[in-house]
Amino acid sequence: MSPSIGIIGDGFGAAAFVLHLSQHAPEYLDNLIIFGTGTLGSGAAYACATPDYKLNVRSDLMRLWPDNPSHFTAWAKQYLDDDDAHHPAGAFYQRRDFARYVSACLADLPQKITQISEHVIQARALTDSADTRWQVETEHGARYQCDHLILATGNPKPIWPCSVHLPDDDKRLIQSVWKGDWQTSVGSGEDVNIIGGGLTAMDVIYALFQAGHKGQIKVITPNGMLPPVQMPWTVKPAFNWPECRTACDVVRAARSILGPDWTQISWQESFEALRIGLNDVYQGLSGNERRRLMRHFGGWWMLTRFRCGPHTHAAASALQKAGQLQVLSGRALSLDEHKANIQLTLSGGAALISDKVINCTGPAGDALLSSMLARGLLQPSSSGRGISVSALLACYRPDKSPWQSLSAIGSMTGGSLGDIVAASSIARQASIVAQRLA
Ligand SMILES: Cc1cc2nc3c(=O)[nH]c(=O)nc-3n(C[C@H](O)[C@H](O)[C@H](O)COP(=O)(O)OP(=O)(O)OC[C@H]3O[C@@H](n4cnc5c(N)ncnc54)[C@H](O)[C@@H]3O)c2cc1C
Repeated sequence: MSPSIGIIGDGFGAAAFVLHLSQHAPEYLDNLIIFGTGTLGSGAAYACATPDYKLNVRSDLMRLWPDNPSHFTAWAKQYLDDDDAHHPAGAFYQRRDFARYVSACLADLPQKITQISEHVIQARALTDSADTRWQVETEHGARYQCDHLILATGNPKPIWPCSVHLPDDDKRLIQSVWKGDWQTSVGSGEDVNIIGGGLTAMDVIYALFQAGHKGQIKVITPNGMLPPVQMPWTVKPAFNWPECRTACDVVRAARSILGPDWTQISWQESFEALRIGLNDVYQGLSGNERRRLMRHFGGWWMLTRFRCGPHTHAAASALQKAGQLQVLSGRALSLDEHKANIQLTLSGGAALISDKVINCTGPAGDALLSSMLARGLLQPSSSGRGISVSALLACYRPDKSPWQSLSAIGSMTGGSLGDIVAASSIARQASIVAQRLA
């Protein structure tokens, strides 16, 4: 009989694992359970109702099958009627349509996948041995056991990055916009302060622009900049990384190929060529050097790595030109009542008043992973971010040897393995775990 597999999380990572497992050991799908309350494959990124949220990368980079980069593009050409997606930099489809694509791939499976629509609050090893069985407990107290457990919990909903002296249910505060269901709660003439200036802020700016928003918009972000835009770049051969032992070696090598102007197509081409081997270079660094790299280089990396789609960039530029959008450098300290409005106080003391405040900071901490770390079932990565995993995605035991029966897929492995955020990196991980278990 095939081993039983449990997956905690029902997002893109879980769906990619199911699809890759169907290629390598289809019979295992009969004995697989997925835990999560959403539609399998949608997760935090693609479970959005609005047409205003587009993919941040062009369609050929949204790879469910690493060996078949044109799979999504071919599906989109056949099933989507979205002229607005097309741009000289590529086709940037709606995120909700990517969820439809993943669902369509799952619908082709002969088996029906078992999903328990509950949140998992606890996971525990049934013995101390490396190949132990696992028990998970859901929020309603139900317990399930499996031979192999996969953590695919992804991106926990953002929380406010500052103290909030207002009621939890205050309608003027929008804590998370990922679902794309907040637009009707912002009046057309209202002034809006946005905390965070990354890709989520760009989604919000684009949605406001599309709605013909008339009020003032302020974006508050530590570096005072919005992300650069995706260029019409073509894939170049991988950068030939020299041996890098230190964070300085990595930065020096990167500088040797990157020019000064990130608005050039050639700059993004060089950057993408660098990225191909970067995770191997990162994994070759000691924990100390990884931390140094992130400390000195992390902010720059976050800014240059996460480029926005051309539609969102054009909307932000138009609003800035019209004097309706301002980008301010600062960190949010607190949110307070100010007459009928909200006062956002920045760490430098500046006070910004608006009708609505929208939180566009990144994912929060993961309660389940924290609890497993606290009980020694997982080990922290040596870089201090996320959990420690092997190159084959096995999690580590308290004695630092790998569990044979506990794996992880997704961004929580980034501290160990490098840049693991994009759908294509997560699909590659899903394929590795599926092949290892088959
Ligand atoms: C808003 C947003 C937009 C993005 N856009 C892009 C893009 O355009 N292109 C790209 O390549 N990447 C994008 N990404 C990156 C994205 O992280 C990956 O593409 C991918 O979707 C992540 O999949 P995942 O399964 O690891 O995580 P998630 O999509 O976060 O899925 C995890 C799922 O597990 C569930 N879950 C979590 N904990 C538990 C628990 N304890 N019990 C049960 N269920 C649980 C969650 O509710 C969620 O549904 C985006 C990310 C976000 C947040």
